[in-house]
Amino acid sequence: MATATQAVRLDEKVTQFVSKPRKMLINGKWVESASGKTFPSYNPATGEILAHVAEGDREDINRAVAAARAAFDSGPWSKMTPSERGRLIWKLADLIEKHSEAFAGLESLDNGKPLAIARVADVPGAVDMFRYMAGWATKIEGNTIPISMPGSKFLAYTLREPVGVVGQIIPWNFPLLMASWKLGPALAAGCTVVLKPAEQTPLSALLLGELVQEAGIPDGVVNIVPGYGETAGAALASHPDVDKIAFTGSTEVGKLIVQAAAGNLKKVSLELGGKSPNVVFQDADLNASIAGASLGIFFNHGQCCCAGSRLYVEEKAFDEVVEGVAAEASKIRLGPGVEPTTDMGPLVSEEQLNRVCGYLESGLAEGAKAVAGGGRHGDKGYFVKPTVLVNTHEKMKVVREEIFGPVVTAIPFRDLDDLVSKANGTVYGLASGVWTRDIAKAHHVASRLRAGTVWINCYNVFDSALPFGGYKQSGWGREMGHEVLELYTEVKSVCLPIS
Ligand code: ADP
Repeated sequence: MATATQAVRLDEKVTQFVSKPRKMLINGKWVESASGKTFPSYNPATGEILAHVAEGDREDINRAVAAARAAFDSGPWSKMTPSERGRLIWKLADLIEKHSEAFAGLESLDNGKPLAIARVADVPGAVDMFRYMAGWATKIEGNTIPISMPGSKFLAYTLREPVGVVGQIIPWNFPLLMASWKLGPALAAGCTVVLKPAEQTPLSALLLGELVQEAGIPDGVVNIVPGYGETAGAALASHPDVDKIAFTGSTEVGKLIVQAAAGNLKKVSLELGGKSPNVVFQDADLNASIAGASLGIFFNHGQCCCAGSRLYVEEKAFDEVVEGVAAEASKIRLGPGVEPTTDMGPLVSEEQLNRVCGYLESGLAEGAKAVAGGGRHGDKGYFVKPTVLVNTHEKMKVVREEIFGPVVTAIPFRDLDDLVSKANGTVYGLASGVWTRDIAKAHHVASRLRAGTVWINCYNVFDSALPFGGYKQSGWGREMGHEVLELYTEVKSVCLPIS
């Protein structure tokens, strides 16, 4: 803790927040875990313990679900007007904005990302998501439906009602932002929530819990239970009184969530892994595509489900683009997130470090060549050098599997059909990028890529209004935009004869 906070002056609240064990939020009270256990959250830049956090397990999940159930069935939340709900969500956004520096500091220390990135991406993104969703609270509408029953005239209409008690399990790559993607629409729809942050990065969600209370969101509406996936997460996913589970994380765990949800057939939405193709045609603005390919893979240290981890470049431009991306990679300055000179921080955990280094070893052993990076950086903290691999092909693990680190494989393609078959040759379908000056070709490729997002001449462009989610094994459902409200509402059909 001490080493990192020396780097820049962090918000006072950060030092205070990590100085004592953090409790969990159940029914409007900050409580210890039923077992009395805590778990450590580490600073990935040093490997040292950053804070101790109450360790939730089945019993805590049971208490949290009971609180959420009571708040949904008979608490003030369900009686509140949509306008009042919207106002409270907006107030929460204002409070997050007020404490931006504290959130950015906590995020940087707990996750490892550069403070500057947390300031411009994570925190404002979360504020914007709550504001966007606050607006939706008053706009969730049904329809009137003309029906054709012979004999009498009917009035038929639909209502969109909150799905009920929602369990939300989020990952560690954008801890606060993912909490906002989950909580924003659930609250706008009128649901109550049990949120389980990732065990690697629980701190910003716990600070958010304090602001949920300060905003005046009633007790029991938002419950936050930190803990491990196999225990607290699994208990939430299988809980018989949870109506819906929303999960963001690996495809592997997504499949476990589906199985766990089968017991009471709760609704499930999943935002899972990816192996996104970023495609450069020779007629593209190559400088822009080099910058875009670098941003696509190195942003957030490659720890993005939509990372452009497979770079496909048309044969004639291959050498120039690969050299350009390798040059960009070697310019990136690695260091603790809280140091002002850092462009890229550490990976989130020792487990991730070992996982990414394992992939690098496997790729190099199978004949890949690193034209930038290729291994760990230093021997303290969990740093990996930004890496560009060539001499790779579709059968290699590094090309097929999600690495979730700053590692891109570059492969040349011959023509459009070759490209489409290579780009779509994956079990994933989350995102993709296309770089070309030929507008018709860009839209043609966009229509053929089996992915939930296609970025043309850009990458990693997100907006609260723009739906995001996956084809194939990248997930079920869409987050953000008005599409997400479908995940948090049930449709009720009502009809009556009127003549
Ligand atoms: P990663 O592999 O990137 O760490 P995970 O998919 O393992 O991502 O984790 C994402 C979230 O899922 C975390 O909050 C984690 O605690 C949770 N999780 C992990 N395993 C399970 C499980 N078996 N059941 C429910 N949640 C889980």
